[in-house]
Formats: sequence, C-alpha cells, structure tokens
Amino acid sequence: TTIGDSFDATVARFGDREALVDVAQGARWTYAELASEVDRLARAFVGAGIVQGDRVGIWAPNCAEWTMVQYATAKVGIILVNINPAYRTHELEYVLRQAGIRMVVAAPSFKTSDYAAMLEEVRPQLDGLEQVVLIGTESWEALLDKAADVSSERLAQIQGGLDRHDAINIQYTSGTTGFPKGATLSHRNILNNGYFVGELCGYSEVDRVCIPVPFYHCFGMVMGNLACTTHGAAMVIPAPGFDPAATLRAVQDERCTSLYGVPTMFIAEWALPDFTSYDVSSLRTGIMAGSPCPAEMMKKVMAAGIDEMSIAYGMTETSPVSLQTRVDDSFERKVGTVGRVGPHLQVKVVDPASGEVLPRGQAGELATKGYSVMLGYWEEPAKTAEVLRDGWMHTGDIAVMDEAGYVQITGRIKDMVIRGGENVYPREIEEFLYTHPDILDAQVIGVPDEKYGEELCAWVRMRPGAEPVTAESVRAFATGKLAHYKIPRYVMIVDEFPMTVTGKVRKVEMREKTVAGLG
Ligand code: ATP
Ligand code: MG
Repeated sequence: TTIGDSFDATVARFGDREALVDVAQGARWTYAELASEVDRLARAFVGAGIVQGDRVGIWAPNCAEWTMVQYATAKVGIILVNINPAYRTHELEYVLRQAGIRMVVAAPSFKTSDYAAMLEEVRPQLDGLEQVVLIGTESWEALLDKAADVSSERLAQIQGGLDRHDAINIQYTSGTTGFPKGATLSHRNILNNGYFVGELCGYSEVDRVCIPVPFYHCFGMVMGNLACTTHGAAMVIPAPGFDPAATLRAVQDERCTSLYGVPTMFIAEWALPDFTSYDVSSLRTGIMAGSPCPAEMMKKVMAAGIDEMSIAYGMTETSPVSLQTRVDDSFERKVGTVGRVGPHLQVKVVDPASGEVLPRGQAGELATKGYSVMLGYWEEPAKTAEVLRDGWMHTGDIAVMDEAGYVQITGRIKDMVIRGGENVYPREIEEFLYTHPDILDAQVIGVPDEKYGEELCAWVRMRPGAEPVTAESVRAFATGKLAHYKIPRYVMIVDEFPMTVTGKVRKVEMREKTVAGLG
C-alpha cells in the first residue's frame, strides 16, 4: 500500500488514541486530530501548485510540523527531501539544486542556525526554488490557507492514483565517510521497513515511543514515525535537538515504553549525574543503532530494566534496517550482535574483491537485498552502479555471520587498520577500552606509520572526575589482554569526538586532526 493509505487505515482504527506529542511545544494530537492537520496540509500543497513527483524540502529540527509535512507530502505523492539541520549555506545550496526543490518548509531558526537568513542568502542563485515557507510564521499560515482551494474529494482522487513503487523521499546519508548521497526511496521501501521494525519491537496502540534521533534521518522518520503510525503507537518528541536530560524527562512524564538512540545518546543519558532520579520504569523496549553499539552500554541499558531493548543495523540506502535483534534472542546475542536478517530480506557476507559468498565465521563485506533497497541515488547513476549490483546493496561494512545467522558488524571497510600486515578492526579495541573503569567513551583510528604502514591511535573521553589515562597506562592495561599489534600506540584525551548530526563519529576528521597533531 502507500504511506497515505496506511496512515488512513490507522486513523480509522485508532482515531481516539494519542498519535503525537511535541513536548517542547506542549502540544499533543490524537490520530483523528493529526489526520485533520495532515489532510489540510496535503490539500494546501496541492493548492500551492505542488504536484505529484515535485520535490519539497524540509529543513527543521524535530517538531510536530516535521511529522505533519512527512505524511501530507506522502498523501499527494510529493517527494520529500530531508535536509540536514546542521547544514550551512554551501551544503544547503547543493541539496536544493541537486534535488531540484520547488518549495522548502523550514523552521525560522534553531539555536545558532538562522534558517530563514540562510535561505534568503541562497535563494537568488536558485531559479527552481519557488517558495519558502517558514513554520509558525505568516508564510506557514498562508500555505495552510491554500487548503480551502482543494476539496477532500480532490485529495482522495490524487491519493488513489499513487503507486507504492513511486519515489516518495530523498534521504541524504549521514556524510560520515564523505559527501552525503541522496538515497531515493519509495513508499514500499520505507513503509514496509517502518512496519517490520515496529513488529520486531512488538508495537501496538499502547506503545509510546520516545524519538530523540533526528527526523531528517531514517532512524527518526522511518524507524520512529513510520513504525508508530503502522501500529497505532504514539510518537513522542522530547526536544527539537538532542538533550539527554529532556529525553529522560520525556520518558518519565510521558510514560514512554520505547526509547531510541545512537550509542552516544545512551552514553550521554546514562552518564547524567542525576540519572537515577528519572523514573524510566515505563520503558519496555527501544532501539540502539546507527554505529557500533558497545556491549558494555547495552548491558547497562538492559540492567535498567529495559529487557527488550534491541540493536538494529541498517543504512539510509536500505530504508534503513536490515538486521535487528529479537526479544527471544539470548543475552549474549542481544548485546554482542546486530541480530538476524529482517523479514522478507536477504543478507550475505562476500569477499569485497571477488564478490564470492564467504563461509560462515569469516569477515567480509555485508550486502543486502529485498524490498528495502533504494531505487538509487538521486540523479547519480554512476554512484548507484558502484553499490547496487543485481539487486544487492553493497554496504561497505565488514560483517561476520555465525552458523545461526547472527551478524556482528566489525566496522567499515574504510576504517579497517592494517598494521604490519595484520587486519585490525577498531571496533574490537573500542569494546576493550570500554572495560577500562576511567574511560567513558573511546574511538580508535589508524594513522600512517613508516615502520608498520599504520599505527593505532585511541581517542578517549574520561569519566567525570577520573584520573586522566596516558598512552603508557592504557598500554599497561591492555598488555596480556590484547595481542601486541592491537594495542594502541597513541592515546589522546579529548572532550568531544567530531560528530555528524546523526550522532556518528567522523573518523575521517579524527584521522586528519591526529595526523596534523602528530606533525
Ligand atoms: P555516509 O554513507 O554518507 O558516509 P553513513 O554511512 O554514516 O554516512 P547512514 O546511512 O546514516 O550514513 O549510516 C549507515 C551506516 O551506519 C552503516 O553503513 C554502518 O556503517 C553504520 N551502522 C548503522 N547501524 C550500525 C550498527 N548497529 N552497528 C555498527 N554500525 C552501524
Ligand atoms: Mg554510508
């Protein structure tokens, strides 16, 4: 089916139940109330002359209007283009042009980002950009007024003419390893993915999902919003940007049953000095995903009573999730793997050079096939052909699959370190460093070395009040526990890692900074 039809079916079943809570705005909507907002906005887009297949950009931190725009555009077949809230004019102009955006719906500003001013700055260079709508201002009201020109019958007619294979969304990848690529996704891609993520989390109309991850990314809009609306669950937006205390407060006050986050978000929440003062007992499940999930952190989350917490693995290009742990998995597999392949999908581990499937237990490149694989990168056929071959999406991630089909992600091919001829997976060293009592968070990279080709460098964040470690003390801690070639030669203490908005560590930038620092 299409996203609009699926949404309407949920509204028909669960109209009276709560659908959306925007904690910062102090506003809440039932499914029936949300549906009337969504329908009005969908009619407004049509009234404003935006037609099926046109691109509308959304540029805002998490807010209720983001979700309304998501469903309103889907109802009338407008391709929604998610714009990264951290972008500045150069990147903004690139996406607006690359995706051929006719209208942008933006928050006027957020923290230090003056979206309105940046849009004014780039607008003269973009002939294709016809309309800029700023949420909550006159232009937003003017857009809504256009709904009066379009009848509900007309809306139903447009909605009825859509096809589930139509492109409905362009989502840019996080830009962790380079410039973001625009994955073009259909109703079928993301609606099914949201549905199956919700199934594996056991969602129903009683669930209330706390979504601190950005909507601009698939974690927020698919695993969050679409998983909820396909099950009648409530979407709870704790704050516009990530705020660990606001997140836990929302869990407590809204009695959330599920909590999402990339690992660094869980680390920040659990490290709050007043963590134990929040009542998180309503939490039953949740998803940690997006980058390597430290087993130590998963153990802590489960120890807080969130027994059904899951780890998911995915990428924007596959809508996103392809592997997820399940409720009945053993504790070891729940904390130490990304689970098994999702329903109606296939995964394989191949030799990156030959493409041959490798025996179980052997590390290679993970590839995914099935309903979730994107239509392609938007107007980038050459880049698409590099990763999409015979329907298989080649992920660029290194994975090991055991006999029972459980998968461990050991890192990205680009991040693997070859030291003196030995392949070293930074993930393994990071997991080890998490066991150090004074280390809060650790990231390991390879840096050029004359003798060994590459050497390992660990960036660590200390626990508050802990004695700073040194390269010597870390090496002493690791000696006898790790093979000699896996022990980091360099250790740097930092306050922060360079991050993407989606909460991923930009190792490319870490390498550049380390190399500059090592002179
Ligand atoms: P770019 O492709 O622009 O460099 P990106 O790959 O980070 O950025 P996303 O599509 O947001 O963009 O992220 C997908 C990637 O995130 C995966 O390819 C994988 O490397 C990583 N990832 C996601 N979930 C997990 C997980 N559970 N464990 C380890 N890595 C994960
Ligand atoms: Mg990627």
